[in-house]
Amino acid sequence: MGIMDGKVVFITGATRGIGFATATRMLEENVEAIAICGSCEETATAALAKLKEAFPEKAEHIYAYWPSLLVEAEVARDMKDFHDKYGRLDAVCSNAGITHNVTIKNIPEGEFKRQIDVNLIGTYYVDRQAGLLMRAKRKGSIVNTASMTGLYGSGMGCGYGASKGGVIALTKSLGRELGFFNIRVNCVAPGSVKTDMTAGLNPAALQAVNQGIALKRMGEPYEIANAIMFFASDLSTYCTATCLSVDGFAT
Ligand code: NAD
Repeated sequence: MGIMDGKVVFITGATRGIGFATATRMLEENVEAIAICGSCEETATAALAKLKEAFPEKAEHIYAYWPSLLVEAEVARDMKDFHDKYGRLDAVCSNAGITHNVTIKNIPEGEFKRQIDVNLIGTYYVDRQAGLLMRAKRKGSIVNTASMTGLYGSGMGCGYGASKGGVIALTKSLGRELGFFNIRVNCVAPGSVKTDMTAGLNPAALQAVNQGIALKRMGEPYEIANAIMFFASDLSTYCTATCLSVDGFAT
């Protein structure tokens, strides 16, 4: 028994970090079936093997896909393949993302657009396909991973901040639109979390980040995973079009 009992969930960016922690927490909470997505076959199948080893009793209900998030037809193909195995999708989590730590003066050509493409347009494709599949059942939950930079901006990565601000506005817009179909759309805005994404920050930069956080520490991936799972589960059936900050109160 768990809070994900009977749920069929598709999640992107789940080969490591927050996405992998989310898949793990959902399996701990007895999710019925889960599809994890990564950016390539190698990382997706490696993560799949790890999850199957950790949850042998669920092994036949854990799947891996590696669609390009820049090609809507690939997202549609893989999400439908998984959907058709169980005849439904209860939750879809658009979590994949990239970041950059660079000033506007030094940003390489094409980098701003790359942030928007992966983080915002990729999320739009995932959300759109999820909405189309969920409409038939008139039920479902879509959860996007945004960022505190989408709320407050980023002093070192305007493309990232802009893309995540877009994810928050996309969430609110789709939440309004899809509520008619009983499809909820919410997002989580993490602060600074201990994953590969932040591993490259130098210690001085990390200390500065921590000083601005009320809880005086970075978040752990499972702490964001728990918030994503809240929106994916029936614990949040009256929440839609909302953005939950999970940032230790970053200022
Ligand atoms: P991570 O780098 O550890 O993992 C990112 C995941 O996204 C990986 O599974 C990777 O395969 C996938 N991914 C990246 N680019 C992709 C692409 N082009 N196509 C398909 N998959 C792709 O990062 P994380 O820290 O776990 O981040 C997860 C989400 O949380 C991201 O959306 C990120 O922006 C957001 N976030 C992270 C932090 C943080 O401090 N770590 C803070 C705020 C928001």
